[in-house]
Amino acid sequence: MTARDPRFIASLREATRGEVRENEPLAGYSTFRIGGPATVVFPAGPEDVAIALRHADNAGVSWFALGLGSNVLLPDAGLEALVIRLGKGLDGVRSDGDRWWFGAGLPAPLVARQTAAAGFAGLHKMVGVPGTVGGGVFMNAGCHGAEWADVVQRVTVVDPNGVDRVLDREEIPFRYRRSGLERVIVLETEVALHQAEPALLEQEVRDLFEWRQRGTPFNQPCCGSTFTNPDLPPGGHPSGLRSAGQFLDAADLKGYTIGRVQVSPLHANYFVNLGGGTADDVRRLIEHARDRVRDRFGVRLELEVKVVSPAGEIEPTDGVRTDG
Ligand SMILES: Cc1cc2nc3c(=O)[nH]c(=O)nc-3n(C[C@H](O)[C@H](O)[C@H](O)COP(=O)(O)OP(=O)(O)OC[C@H]3O[C@@H](n4cnc5c(N)ncnc54)[C@H](O)[C@@H]3O)c2cc1C
Repeated sequence: MTARDPRFIASLREATRGEVRENEPLAGYSTFRIGGPATVVFPAGPEDVAIALRHADNAGVSWFALGLGSNVLLPDAGLEALVIRLGKGLDGVRSDGDRWWFGAGLPAPLVARQTAAAGFAGLHKMVGVPGTVGGGVFMNAGCHGAEWADVVQRVTVVDPNGVDRVLDREEIPFRYRRSGLERVIVLETEVALHQAEPALLEQEVRDLFEWRQRGTPFNQPCCGSTFTNPDLPPGGHPSGLRSAGQFLDAADLKGYTIGRVQVSPLHANYFVNLGGGTADDVRRLIEHARDRVRDRFGVRLELEVKVVSPAGEIEPTDGVRTDG
């Protein structure tokens, strides 16, 4: 059975308080503005996430957790998997001294601004990372030298059987842009922040946000960094290049376009949808860019963007299919 099956949709509607939309175009839920239709459930609270997971598990239907869709490439054909969209309903905030608890569906930029205004540092640098708290923890998102792993103390997750667990930070194998959290959905995270002068923090937030707007195609449909920065040998690369963006730029890829998707002339690690771009265009551009960097510099770039298959699986970071 797939999540498109009318019997599955009808029984899910009965089981959950959240809204279930069928045949919902996913392009509206991805910052790339790419993705075909799927059955999407919008949980009304944490218990609804567990219900949706149990329901899918019992019916043999695969699922995919979606936050603000700012680091995913969703397939043109849409998903056979059930899309569980985390947003409102999982947007609680509470604090006690330097400890803060955030629902997985909260936008990270909101969290950055709110904690800065309250005089707490540690997440304020996330103002330019346009995803959710859950997506940030799952991806170990970060910027300007800060990442979620620096502040996370505990994460409440739910597994495919619909069972909640609280994981301590030591149990989460955080690495650069990875949490190692597999086959679970993040419901909430507890973080430890530290006190700082609110006016200074708010000024830093404004400066970082302006820097973002100047240096990246922030207002165009895109998914942030396409590739992670390469793991170079000690001593670095003979060219002196370090980041994925620098390698792509030095390979003369800025402005290179396939179909309606372009390597941003502003920042080479951002691929932008010029309007009407498809997942297939992005896949072909990824392969082309990767081949060109490998041929010129002998460096193999790995994907940061999560390329999703119609079954809801994330494709390997070192290769994508270009046959659709
Ligand atoms: C303009 C722009 C700038 C960006 N800048 C940065 C940056 O500076 N640094 C950086 O690290 N990233 C950056 N990104 C990428 C992106 O914003 C982050 O990776 C973000 O944390 C993704 O969150 P999301 O809610 O959008 O996740 P989605 O894109 O919806 O999902 C990404 C992955 O997380 C999983 N996921 C989402 N929510 C949950 C959950 N609750 N539980 C379990 N798994 C979940 C999904 O299944 C998927 O595998 C940028 C993106 C854009 C568009």
